[in-house]
Amino acid sequence: MPPEKYNPHYDPLVNKTPGCGADYAPTYWVDSAGMEPEDDGMVTADISVDTAVIGSGFTGLATALFLAREHHTETAVLEANRLSWGCTSRNGGQAQLATGRLGRRQWIKKWGETTARALHEEICQGFATFEAIIKDEDIDCDLTDRGHLYIAHKPGILARLADESELNNKVFSYNTRIISADELKAGYVDEQHSHGALLEPTGVGVHPVKLACGYAAAARKHGAKIYTSSPVTAWEEKQGYHYLITPKGTVKARRVAIATGGYTHASLNPCLSYRYMPILSNSVVTSVLTADQLAGCGIKTNMIMTDTRILRFYYRLLPDGRMQIGTRSAITGSDADNKKHYDLLINGLYQKFPALKTATIDYSWWGWVDVSHDMMPRIVQADNKNIFYALGYGGNGVSFSVQAGKRMAQRIAGVFDRKLETLPIYNSQLPAHPLRPLRRAGQRLLYHYYHGLDRVLP
Ligand SMILES: Cc1cc2nc3c(=O)[nH]c(=O)nc-3n(C[C@H](O)[C@H](O)[C@H](O)COP(=O)(O)OP(=O)(O)OC[C@H]3O[C@@H](n4cnc5c(N)ncnc54)[C@H](O)[C@@H]3O)c2cc1C
Repeated sequence: MPPEKYNPHYDPLVNKTPGCGADYAPTYWVDSAGMEPEDDGMVTADISVDTAVIGSGFTGLATALFLAREHHTETAVLEANRLSWGCTSRNGGQAQLATGRLGRRQWIKKWGETTARALHEEICQGFATFEAIIKDEDIDCDLTDRGHLYIAHKPGILARLADESELNNKVFSYNTRIISADELKAGYVDEQHSHGALLEPTGVGVHPVKLACGYAAAARKHGAKIYTSSPVTAWEEKQGYHYLITPKGTVKARRVAIATGGYTHASLNPCLSYRYMPILSNSVVTSVLTADQLAGCGIKTNMIMTDTRILRFYYRLLPDGRMQIGTRSAITGSDADNKKHYDLLINGLYQKFPALKTATIDYSWWGWVDVSHDMMPRIVQADNKNIFYALGYGGNGVSFSVQAGKRMAQRIAGVFDRKLETLPIYNSQLPAHPLRPLRRAGQRLLYHYYHGLDRVLP
């Protein structure tokens, strides 16, 4: 069957499924990954399996890998389109020591210091899990220099970063440090309008498609099946079994793990209705930079970077000498290719690095990030009936999705450590939004407000 054409206007609040066998978004990652690993093709007959995982992004693949490798569970991944077609093949490849969108000070305010420390510990363990899988499964995914630069876009913000660094060091024993504007310029990058940075020791850049292909190959090696072009279009429950209907066959499963990220339609299962908000993020990649362009950016590292805007930019020099940058984009899928969103991103790039006005833009794409209504993900069992989900990463899923997959697999296998239930990401369902039809109007207002704040804050 020829691949369905890529639909740039796909919108999870409008379209019921993301497609069937649809082609990839035109990303640099897909273009530069090399061969796609083999998968098990489309579901073409009725099959029966212990656990079905819906979605083949980082979360679905990690869940399948852990289920197969650690728990010897018969597992089938069902992917609507091509392998890792969603956010996993479209992100910035920034693996940060983070989950969700809240910072450590906000954790303390919400849950107290003990829980905040335990959450930090879990995220550190998550990063270790992520690094261990890459090593143990021998995944070549273009790892960059270690660390993350959080760059102050206004002078007044450096004091806030200094506070954050002190909190990291004192409360969390996480040894971050402030670097001055001069040190930043001399040792890392000469970004215009930067006023110093918080340097985190943990963090790394990856090639996300190579990483996902590595997870997929490992999951299959350990016995999981990965079916592509197999969207779940309906879901029935009978006598304790789930029947997932795909275009050419029904998958009967005892348990189901939902790993559909920002591509989840509210109708997939009632347990998810309006429990997360899909938000568009876009990204561009330049041509390979010339020596003059590189010198103009004063860039001496390929460490991952973000700035301190509320509507932040994330960027880095890729290992082959291109620059990649992304930020928040349109509100709706129908507006995703409106040039004004591209212009906002490109202007951000040029403001940071005027020398790049002479570079061409070789790749431009966008994708739907899953943001929860309280800005934190959940990796939980839905109320009943052996349904599990890991969703709501809020744009911080490259590294933590592996730990989410590991924990979801433990829940499915019945070996989840109950001590972890003290953590807010494991002990409650994603909250549903009370004002469902107004969410996008609210988002529009918030974006205007945040853009204003990013401009006027000292
Ligand atoms: C432009 C962009 C930049 C980003 N940059 C970063 C970054 O630098 N660092 C970071 O940590 N995070 C980043 N993210 C977020 C990160 O990519 C995600 O958190 C992560 O990839 C989520 O993976 P996932 O497996 O949960 O979901 P996805 O990768 O989105 O996978 C979900 C899959 O489910 C499938 N699916 C949906 N419905 C069905 C159905 N009914 N039947 C079958 N299959 C279905 C979809 O086709 C899709 O392939 C970025 C995201 C975007 C869009």
